[in-house]
Amino acid sequence: MIDLSTLTISKARKAIIAGEYSSAELVDEYLKVIKEKNGEINAYLGLYESALENARAFDNLSTEEKSKLTLGGIPIAVKDNILVKGEVVSSASKILENYLAPYDATATRKLKDAGAILIGRTNMDEFAMGGSTENSAYGTTRNPHDTTRVPGGTSGGSAAAVAGGMALVALGSDTGGSIRQPSSFCGVVGLKPTYGAVSRYGLMAAVSSFDQIGPITRSVEDAEIIFNIIKGKDAFDSTSREETVVQSRGKVIGVPNTFVRGGGISSEVLKVFDDSIEKFKSLGYEVVDIELPNIKYALPAYYILNFAEISSNMSRYDGIRFGTNIDSEKLFEVYSKSRGAKLGKEVRKRIMLGTYVLSAGYYDSYYGKANLARGVIKSDYEKAFDKVDYILTPVAPTLPWKIGDKVTDPLSIYLEDIFTVTANLTGMPAISIPAGFANASGTKLPVGIQLMAPEFAEDALFEAGKVFENKL
Ligand code: GLN
Repeated sequence: MIDLSTLTISKARKAIIAGEYSSAELVDEYLKVIKEKNGEINAYLGLYESALENARAFDNLSTEEKSKLTLGGIPIAVKDNILVKGEVVSSASKILENYLAPYDATATRKLKDAGAILIGRTNMDEFAMGGSTENSAYGTTRNPHDTTRVPGGTSGGSAAAVAGGMALVALGSDTGGSIRQPSSFCGVVGLKPTYGAVSRYGLMAAVSSFDQIGPITRSVEDAEIIFNIIKGKDAFDSTSREETVVQSRGKVIGVPNTFVRGGGISSEVLKVFDDSIEKFKSLGYEVVDIELPNIKYALPAYYILNFAEISSNMSRYDGIRFGTNIDSEKLFEVYSKSRGAKLGKEVRKRIMLGTYVLSAGYYDSYYGKANLARGVIKSDYEKAFDKVDYILTPVAPTLPWKIGDKVTDPLSIYLEDIFTVTANLTGMPAISIPAGFANASGTKLPVGIQLMAPEFAEDALFEAGKVFENKL
């Protein structure tokens, strides 16, 4: 028996190289947990059949060859919107049911090149729109800490897989919080890298100017290991960039108190947040108040830009170029019937709203204004970072809610993104780190905190994160 409950990448790697167990045995151990738990949790939509075979191929390498591979034999789960060549990838949508990835995403190719064993694809909100995984066309994922509650979203399957011992590491994608919020809800670590740090090639586009792939892990160190492998400029993504400045950061943390304490945040989350501030102080950090004057525009600007880019990106799913269609005599009907029947409600809503905000008469007043707001928010953050090294906020304002509780009130789910969207609007990196637990009707639910830093200062996030985890 391998003790999965305390496993990290470096531990697993050492054990595999030392011959304590093989990669195939480790993969098999995870497959057993998946078999036992996935019926209830629904974290995985499918497993990659080649996983064990790939693990055995790795096991047949010499010790020298094995030690050269940073992720040699390490099992990793992949969100269902990131391509793994030859495997089904559906973005949890019916329109891509049985769609096979024709190539590897750069991130998954890099993981494979580093020796990782990709084990399966994880559940998500359809096309990465939502915040609870309830918008999946293949059933909701359940939070392993309390299976009556949501795991967060949209990378809810990835976070639940890692939290539930069904994966050591998972990839997620984050457009407005989709790595960080489920990580917080499930008690694991999630990193949204700097925009452009990780190639988006092979990630199904939701909002091209916000989307980033990032790791969901059990420790900050594991997130760092994965980030260092998947990052880098890529000829297939012209927005990808190499780190140009090495950012050395100090120990001053800014807290936007007016924003955080302005109402709408649950007292349980606030308690963990305040405890975290005290913890940082006791670890030698200085915590100061900061102002972000235009923060009130963040959520509306985010959603206008989100709808606009989604309406454009989703046009490729026309029932002809990709996936399944419903046949008809008239071309237009092929589009309308296929999209009408095979795209979920939230996706169709965003396409319509996005088309509206981009339409000739409204373009300037909605899309144009939202873009201006994005600019002033970015400059608020840049000014704040002249004075502080990190910005600390909660990840989400509430605890994971009961499945079904918010489906009739979509706006309340949008409000959950209040603390996460600014990292996507500004392009800055942010990490969600487990910070404590809150009691909710007898169950202990995890609560995370979010640290944000200037562009390409991921190393600083890892450093402060490890200090907070008591690992430095
Ligand atoms: N909840 C946000 C939205 O629905 C973020 C989603 C994401 O990051 N993919 O837009």
